[in-house]
Amino acid sequence: MKAIQAARGTRDLLPPETELWNHIEATARRVFARYCFGEIRTPIFEDTQLFARSVGEETDIVSKEMYTWEDRARAQSEKAQSLTLRPENTAGVVRAYIEHKLGESGLLQKLYYIGPQFRRERPQKGRYRQFYQIGAEVIGPTSAGSESPLRDAEVLEMLATLLGELGIVDWKLYLNSVGSASDRPRYVLALQEALKEIAPKLCADCQRRAQTNPLRVLDCKIPEDQPFIETLPKIAEFLDANSRVHFAQVCAALDACGVPFILNPRLVRGLDYYTRTTFEFVHAGLGAQNALLGGGRYDGLSEAIGGPKAPGIGFAMGADRLVLTLQAQQEAPSAMPRLADAYIAPLGEAQQEQALVLARELRQAGLRVELGDGNFRIKKSFEVGNRLARRIVLFGEEEAQSGIMTVKDFASGAQTKVPRAELAQALQRK
Ligand code: ATP
Ligand code: MG
Repeated sequence: MKAIQAARGTRDLLPPETELWNHIEATARRVFARYCFGEIRTPIFEDTQLFARSVGEETDIVSKEMYTWEDRARAQSEKAQSLTLRPENTAGVVRAYIEHKLGESGLLQKLYYIGPQFRRERPQKGRYRQFYQIGAEVIGPTSAGSESPLRDAEVLEMLATLLGELGIVDWKLYLNSVGSASDRPRYVLALQEALKEIAPKLCADCQRRAQTNPLRVLDCKIPEDQPFIETLPKIAEFLDANSRVHFAQVCAALDACGVPFILNPRLVRGLDYYTRTTFEFVHAGLGAQNALLGGGRYDGLSEAIGGPKAPGIGFAMGADRLVLTLQAQQEAPSAMPRLADAYIAPLGEAQQEQALVLARELRQAGLRVELGDGNFRIKKSFEVGNRLARRIVLFGEEEAQSGIMTVKDFASGAQTKVPRAELAQALQRK
């Protein structure tokens, strides 16, 4: 029978690599705590309309990458609800913000999340169908200061700090402003006008985007299209005074705290909800999928999904890509599993129970202990112990009775006798 494998684009994360994942998540939690963000956990699936109305019907994500199904109707008279595995988490966070009336506190909500997201993309290095994001949002009523450019700069500065603490140093921050909801229509008109001429020379996707969502043309990654796209009008020329001042203040605040950035007028990002500041941190070591994270402002998102006015800014980092980057930098925990401090080898079935008790004692003293098997012959116990631990503790009838343990260090070959009461201390020594 053919063995069943993990579904395309999904994979198992195994130890010791999961240690690196835990390290990344722990570092992120530590940094978020210093910036006073609290954790939010939203459901893995949501009403499909949530993503259609926020991410946008015409985006690649919603138009072709979502895992969507009709849930069974509860009663015959009821219509089946369309549900979708979350392709991103900002929409879920903003839905929760609205549902729990978090804005009524009058304070900014600073929320972070860590979890899996799902997109039916073509799997490749750094691109999976189940992938993991670490993200954060700052959202609140305008009176709480949620539109302030200081918030944008603070989030970007936090990201620079977080990447630094992860040990990722040579990143680049690309920054742009895509303007407010009132700047955008003027720019889109100008784009449409310019696209009339060049669209026929672009790829099939861009020809479609030129009709349905012209901004998305700027996202195109096809090399042949680039010279034409370069000739399109730039959004910076269409920003009104407010957006322009806002963006200048973000840039100035970043300068003030020494976070370097590169202006990139084509950075519009793949989600419709972004307004004003958009950004991406990239890392050359990642190859084609070079974005470590992306984000931006979404001043109209809450209203787009039926909530009160609640401007916000946030980002999502690709945890899979952080792992790849750290592995490539060889700063990852070594590929070899860490050896246990000791392997307890019961020398017969009769000693098993007491060996379990001994292992419990040592573990409670904080040691990393592997418990062997009383059915193994002594030669096998040594072989297995040598693969799993730095030392073996022989636990036979004699040891059980005398309370004096035989400990052998695999590296030095030294064999010592240690009274049980001193065993934990002896094993703590490196
Ligand atoms: P990309 O340009 O790489 O497709 P995106 O514009 O779709 O990214 P976002 O939707 O903003 O990215 O997601 C934020 C981050 O999540 C990305 O910068 C990336 O690190 C990560 N990410 C997005 N899609 C995937 C995926 N399919 N597999 C792994 N990581 C992903
Ligand atoms: Mg994408």
